[in-house]
Amino acid sequence: MAERAYLDWNATAPLRPEAADALRAALALTGNPSSVHAEGRAARHAVEQAREDVAALVGARPADVIFTSGGTEANMLALTPSIETGSEKKPRGKLLMSAIEHSSVRAGGRFARSAIADIPVTADGRVDLAVLAEAVATCERPLVSLMLANNETGVIQPVTEAAAIVNAAAGLLHVDAVQAAGRIAVDIGALGADLLTLSAHKIGGPKGVGVLVRGREDIHFPEPLIRGGGQERGLRAGTENVPGIAAFGAAARAARALLAAEAAHMLALRHRLEAGLRAVTPDVVIFGAGAERLPNTTLFALAGIKAETAIIAFDLEGVAVSSGAACSSGKVQPSHVLAAMGVSPELTRAAVRVSVGRTSTESEVERFLNAWRKVAGALFKGSKERPGIAA
Ligand code: PLP
Repeated sequence: MAERAYLDWNATAPLRPEAADALRAALALTGNPSSVHAEGRAARHAVEQAREDVAALVGARPADVIFTSGGTEANMLALTPSIETGSEKKPRGKLLMSAIEHSSVRAGGRFARSAIADIPVTADGRVDLAVLAEAVATCERPLVSLMLANNETGVIQPVTEAAAIVNAAAGLLHVDAVQAAGRIAVDIGALGADLLTLSAHKIGGPKGVGVLVRGREDIHFPEPLIRGGGQERGLRAGTENVPGIAAFGAAARAARALLAAEAAHMLALRHRLEAGLRAVTPDVVIFGAGAERLPNTTLFALAGIKAETAIIAFDLEGVAVSSGAACSSGKVQPSHVLAAMGVSPELTRAAVRVSVGRTSTESEVERFLNAWRKVAGALFKGSKERPGIAA
């Protein structure tokens, strides 16, 4: 295949070399981590080492890390009415979530539809804290789910402020930090999160492994999603995905060590990319541009362009970008995130997401911008309504 520019890191990130090494090493481990013999103990060691590395990435205690099959399962486990804390055994009646959560949170876990309420976001894509405060005040001990950074816009949410509001109402806060980890510092204590979700494949680990992290040791799930053996302290039955978990640990360790340098690299590329976009098409809209965003994410639109057509054209030019959440590409569904931000349906249909990562290069950004010049030019060829495409 000709050289390509992979600029869809929010959909999934390439495996880090450290994770690939750990994966290969763990594939060679014969034992079951629950077995007491030497082979079993070697596998257990790989899992526990990874637990420490993933815990360290978010400032948690290893004992509070529960391995799952990914971010989706961790979110589903978190959103459970019967969560117990300390002596509190009464189910939580209400789940509050921002209107821009990932579909795995939007699905509501094990809460009934009627028990779920949305908290709107402002035009810049940040959750409306005043509405959250009002909503929290009207329900008893709610569970609130708020992502740390949005997967489509990259907009960082005011989680610490939300945590203070939720805490004051004896609620619990779950934070989906899947897109934030490895791009900005994530500390479960500083955020004030009671539960936090991570996914390996967004930080350079393999697909199909994630964690739910507890910010308080007294949080207990009396009804795990997957029951059977007593793995993960009874919270997630099934023989552990030892290679996936070991590789996740290695990715977490590298992501933590390299965070500052990688974030600075991504931000420089994002600045170049956005300056280029504005130079080529002065009418381009960059969503959430006024808010604090991840250093790697740009969601943009030019009225009159159809995202699906643009993405195919980019692909033919050797550039991989996305029209929003990967999970919903394939089905042509307008972004619920942009709808929640009050963006017009026309502009929503034009939205293209570019997300860079630690190995992205300036020449990939140039390739993207050259492709954009062609894409924007071609899509408006012959049209009278040719929005300002600079030469
Ligand atoms: N949460 C967010 C914000 C995501 O972007 C994603 C994946 O795109 C997930 C959760 C789901 O994670 P996984 O792919 O590991 O199931």
